[in-house]
Amino acid sequence: MREGWRERFAESPDVLRSARCQQTVVSVLHLKIGGGEFVTMAGPCSVETEHQLMATAHRVCCAGASVLRGGAFKPRSSPYSFQGHGLKGLKMLARVREATGLAIVTEVMSKDDVPLVAKYADILQIGMRNMENYPLLEAAARSGRPVLLKRGMVATLAEWLRSAQLILDNGNPNVILCERGIRTFETATRNTFDVSAIALLKQISHLPVIADPSHAAGHRDMVPALARVAVVAGADGMIVEVHPDPDNAWSDGDQSLDFAEFDEMMFDLYPWIALRALMLRDPERLRVSLGVPSREAAQVRVMESGG
Ligand code: PEP
Ligand code: MN
Repeated sequence: MREGWRERFAESPDVLRSARCQQTVVSVLHLKIGGGEFVTMAGPCSVETEHQLMATAHRVCCAGASVLRGGAFKPRSSPYSFQGHGLKGLKMLARVREATGLAIVTEVMSKDDVPLVAKYADILQIGMRNMENYPLLEAAARSGRPVLLKRGMVATLAEWLRSAQLILDNGNPNVILCERGIRTFETATRNTFDVSAIALLKQISHLPVIADPSHAAGHRDMVPALARVAVVAGADGMIVEVHPDPDNAWSDGDQSLDFAEFDEMMFDLYPWIALRALMLRDPERLRVSLGVPSREAAQVRVMESGG
């Protein structure tokens, strides 16, 4: 790694790749996040009803998701919007895990709720608004559950990694970084998907990095394109909002895919995911099968041109 990156991220040394740690693989139930396979997390923004959650879980599972998302504690822009079902929502999530085998990721918003949420969830999500809530990060770290750490809306990479470092410092190595878009001058999209963050983090950090194309885009028609970009950028997975009836969702309906749209997105994404897997496993073989020049052939060309 370039020395300049070490200096820039000097506040979070343990998050950076080193001879000791090249890649963290987070184990969740039967899953491995960061282990080479692209992991899809999907589900509604908010847990609304048991039927909504169960129907969504079955459908996203069939389409290839292995983790169910759904907020029981909801951070909302307006204090007058639906704030989530709390414990009732956590219990619904646990029942759906029982029925489907999907792992559960859900947000925890306050340090006092950590023991409760950790009892029901497989992965604790720290939302964008809480990325620098250090007492919450410490409590989440100490719960022993893997932590999905979303990037703050106006957080630099150094600030984000500093929060990841704090979780490691508190004895929890299982941190998953989630790029969910940042606030820029652009208003056509809800946030600006910072794909360079994914590319850079994959270069310098051993932590798994996933993308959230839903919160980045803010509009459902943009989600599949951003998901594709995330795969190609090298993300270890993604988290996507899916709802049986997005127009009537209790939160984030505009950016939620309906079932058919999610199926379609996953279908379109498979060749890219397969390509990514082949590139990781055996790039030379992939080149041969695609009929593009092998490394040797490229070198011969350079030599012949006198380079
Ligand atoms: C969410 O995942 O529904 C959410 C509120 O995300 P963020 O914290 O990234 O806005
Ligand atoms: Mn949401």
